[in-house]
Amino acid sequence: MKRKQDIIASRPSVRDEIESFSIPEPMSGCFLWLRSVNSRGYAQLGLFNTTVLVSRVLCVLYRGMDLDNPGWVAMHSCDNPICVNWSHIKPGTQKENIDDARAKNRLAKGIKNGAFLHHHHKLSEDDVRQIRKLYANGDISGPELAKRFNVGRSAIYNVLDGVTWRHVK
Ligand SMILES: [Zn+2]
Repeated sequence: MKRKQDIIASRPSVRDEIESFSIPEPMSGCFLWLRSVNSRGYAQLGLFNTTVLVSRVLCVLYRGMDLDNPGWVAMHSCDNPICVNWSHIKPGTQKENIDDARAKNRLAKGIKNGAFLHHHHKLSEDDVRQIRKLYANGDISGPELAKRFNVGRSAIYNVLDGVTWRHVK
């Protein structure tokens, strides 16, 4: 049986098909897929009387991966499931894919909470006194204090627990 690999390689039109079924998105550099997607929203293409993920086909065409080998997944650096720009897609292991998703999820959460944006904000002694006073009065919670003073939650709890700024009374 001829390997899918060789069939794709012998069909240069696959590259052109993928290109012609997508439009570039100038902001992100993504190529947006205009044809069908699978149930999880990923671009797919009919090949070999079945459907295959376009991201996988791109890894075969541009990264030398073996389509018949199930031991790898195509990972999007842009996290856009309909993106078919091969330079945004690289092969990885299932584990790398999960780690990558976790890391991105953490990053997104961190940015949302201001943990990264305001990481370097420094508290003053006055801030510290005010934080302790507000908290002692029960006016405001730890996470709300973090927001108001533009610092991470752990910075607030460290202040409240006396781990940091112990000298400030
Ligand atoms: Zn992309």
